Amino acid sequence: MEHRCEVAVLGLGAMGAATAYQLAKSGVRVIGVDRYHPPHTQGSSHGDTRITRLSVGEGAAYVPIVRNSHRIWRELEALSGESLFEQCGVLVMTSSPDYDANDASDFTNRTFQLAKTYGIEHEVLSAEQIRQRFPQFSPVLDSAVGYFEPNGGYVRPERCIAVQLRLAEEHGATLLKGETVTAITSHEQGVTITTDQRTIHADKVVVSAGMWSRELLGQPFDRLLRVCRQKLFWFELEESARFAQVSPTFIFTHGPGQFHYGFPPLPGEGSLKVATEQYSEESSPDTLDRTVSAAEARDMFETQVRGRIAGVTSRVVKSAVCAYTVTPDSHFIIDAHPSLKNTLVVSACSGHGFKHSAALGEAVAQWCVRGSSDLDLSAFSLKRFAGQP
Ligand SMILES: Cc1cc2nc3c(=O)[nH]c(=O)nc-3n(C[C@H](O)[C@H](O)[C@H](O)COP(=O)(O)OP(=O)(O)OC[C@H]3O[C@@H](n4cnc5c(N)ncnc54)[C@H](O)[C@@H]3O)c2cc1C
Repeated sequence: MEHRCEVAVLGLGAMGAATAYQLAKSGVRVIGVDRYHPPHTQGSSHGDTRITRLSVGEGAAYVPIVRNSHRIWRELEALSGESLFEQCGVLVMTSSPDYDANDASDFTNRTFQLAKTYGIEHEVLSAEQIRQRFPQFSPVLDSAVGYFEPNGGYVRPERCIAVQLRLAEEHGATLLKGETVTAITSHEQGVTITTDQRTIHADKVVVSAGMWSRELLGQPFDRLLRVCRQKLFWFELEESARFAQVSPTFIFTHGPGQFHYGFPPLPGEGSLKVATEQYSEESSPDTLDRTVSAAEARDMFETQVRGRIAGVTSRVVKSAVCAYTVTPDSHFIIDAHPSLKNTLVVSACSGHGFKHSAALGEAVAQWCVRGSSDLDLSAFSLKRFAGQP
């Protein structure tokens, strides 16, 4: 089977679904391909919720992107009638004996700084104010500081992907699900994509293959990208009362390099989703252990939850494994492939990409149509790794 299109989107997770939707909406003939049936639980975009916030402590370059995403989530809600973005607020706090208000590496301090620079609405909370407003975080040290952003919250990743794919199809996109891309070859006029079922000829290709990008893209991505296994836990609540009032998403630093993040209980669920991150153990899509052991759940509860979040039991009602596709500096790579012509790479998001995905889809679609985007994505260029081994 041979197919032709203007743009092929390889991988229809967070980045690919947004890109396919925006391209189709712009009238571009697009074919999207995914090895599974997105939204699915095999990649990096599952687990019910993803934090979003305007003051993106990861760096200033992300602020305009997330702003656009917030606009697009609302547009998608209006078009689909689905609830995608819950603006429950986000609390970023440090409650650590080592806290230093001048430490620029502290995530809460970085968040304060960016909010000030960009005029992002927020409140500065003392330990006493955190205790009063959010009694679920207990105990909180007297030296604790909190950043509360009322316009932050969480998005629903599976719903966002499903809605964008549905709308993409309504705008005429062809989506091939359960089909694996095995090779990409490029030439002056375009790109030829081989899947396990057909050949696709496209003028341009967007590769949004998440943790599979390394295999599909070859050099230099095979040496730049690392896949890191992450675990998500839903602990049963002992008492819903503490979480009944407005409960924010949260990022809680409690020591140098030690933190966890979490979400308000979803309606009717009676559990709290909480997670931390690890970057030391490397994995691959084929070897990724997708089950969470009882020992891992115990360790999570003892090191991150006990004595930090009140009203939560150690009983795990649900768990999941997900993966980060991590670059050497933990920032994104969004750039043309250095040796494959007409090929744009968008999906190495180092574990913090979901909040930006809707806007990146729009920017990537603009790049495909007119060779540039309204958003400045130069901070995510491959150039910064030139000369690195
Ligand atoms: C545990 C966890 C928590 C996170 N929390 C947050 C958060 O709170 N806030 C935030 O902003 N971000 C968060 N992130 C990051 C964010 O979820 C990811 O950056 C984003 O979802 C990645 O999207 P993606 O499109 O790059 O990858 P994916 O969604 O994994 O999509 C890649 C797609 O490519 C397909 N594919 C791969 N290879 C092929 C092939 N050869 N042929 C066809 N199809 C292929 C796959 O099937 C998959 O559907 C988190 C990530 C994880 C894992």
